Amino acid sequence: MSIAELRRQLNLGKVSAKELVDEHLSRIKKVDTKLNAFLEITAEKALADAIRVDEARAAGCVLPPLAGIPIAIKDNLCTKGVTTTCSSRMLEHFVPPYESTVTERLWQSGAILIGKTNLDEFAMGSSTETSAFGSTLNPWDTSRVPGGSSGGSAAAVAAGECIAALGSDTGGSIRQPASFCGVVGLKPTYGRVSRWGLVAFASSLDQVGPFATSVADAAEILQVIAGSDSRDATSLKVPVPNYLASFDKPLSGLRVGLIKECFEQKGLSAQVKKSVLDAANLLQSLGVELIEISCPRFNDGIATYYVIAPSEASANLARYDGVKYGYRSDSAEDLSSMTTQTRTEGFGSEVKRRILIGTYALSAGYVDAYYKKAQKVRTLIRRDFESAFKKVDILLTPTAPTTAFSVGSHTADPVSMYLSDLLTIPVNLAGLPAISLPCGFDTSGLPIGVQLIGNVLDEPRLLQIAHQYEQSADVIANQPNGELIP
Ligand code: GLN
Repeated sequence: MSIAELRRQLNLGKVSAKELVDEHLSRIKKVDTKLNAFLEITAEKALADAIRVDEARAAGCVLPPLAGIPIAIKDNLCTKGVTTTCSSRMLEHFVPPYESTVTERLWQSGAILIGKTNLDEFAMGSSTETSAFGSTLNPWDTSRVPGGSSGGSAAAVAAGECIAALGSDTGGSIRQPASFCGVVGLKPTYGRVSRWGLVAFASSLDQVGPFATSVADAAEILQVIAGSDSRDATSLKVPVPNYLASFDKPLSGLRVGLIKECFEQKGLSAQVKKSVLDAANLLQSLGVELIEISCPRFNDGIATYYVIAPSEASANLARYDGVKYGYRSDSAEDLSSMTTQTRTEGFGSEVKRRILIGTYALSAGYVDAYYKKAQKVRTLIRRDFESAFKKVDILLTPTAPTTAFSVGSHTADPVSMYLSDLLTIPVNLAGLPAISLPCGFDTSGLPIGVQLIGNVLDEPRLLQIAHQYEQSADVIANQPNGELIP
């Protein structure tokens, strides 16, 4: 049921916030032992908050837009008084003394925290397998990964354990798991949403965004979390438009670009390609004009990202030294070996790999050849998009080259894992907004996602096209499987 419909029912008294929370808690109880989407379930707090919403309603108060809606939060967003682990031993017992801006805005809008979701350690990964607290599994097929790094949030929404969720996207971590789990995932324009209280991975790329079962629900969440924030120096000081206002405006006259390089990828599955091209054709039948676009530097995205993101990560993760907060090894005799031991024991191997790559790329003698060179290529990738948006309004690609892969199939080969973000990473390098939405199923019954990319701050048009596609395609209603995780 959509957030708008739930709001109606809550207002009419057909359902109470407490009933809604109870329902989702029992769903979690039923399926999460199989999925492991949640690291912590905040049942007591959720029930208390729901009762407060119901009391306020009974007292005749005018309630904010998300009053009583149970939402799950990726465990790299700080929640005051609620453990925030980043799925790392390093922060296993870290209880933030403050609330992130995005979650603060959700609670002010009446939303209810139902729990914190699993992720790849420090959001580094594409499968939620690098979590220190066990992998999350895909609700469509538990032998498959849910994608990552926000795999817990994507799986929780897909399996009906919450109404919506927040994730973070540095190179695809909202869109790729949304695609693997058959839900909607939106990465806003860089700077549209505050990063304050999001545990930093790669600060020039990180962005928070929603997972939901419909474009309208994703827009409702964005409406609440978007907007400038003096505590994040990169947050944009521009007004937030009404994201739902242009949902039903006709699409005729809009131009949608198909990025040629994306459809020519060697690793692109034939079924994914067909389903995404079918989505483009459906959009054409709704009145858009399809245009082929070339972004010659698109394929340099992965190499560029895997210099820039680890470089920023190596700087950001330097703070975990065993002194200020987080894990501290007690097996060392002096300060320097304490730091070494703490980091050796506290970080998993993928995080260590990123720190090593980043430290190398930034070190004297190599910084020009790697980090600075990567920054130049990043500019070229951005320019490709700039010239594309002179010709079209929106770009369309598959979200990921394949559907959800089998658990364990990529863990021994990091590069094969990295390649699953081939189609999402350039978008982060350019700071653009993009959405992944379900467009079909492969022959194994696994969902396929189409990615729509917008120009800077053009979320309204992105959501308008996505919504109208969703309404005519009705992909999930026509899904071939029975109940997910029955
Ligand atoms: N999979 C990519 C990585 O491991 C992207 C992760 C993300 O967006 N947080 O870096």
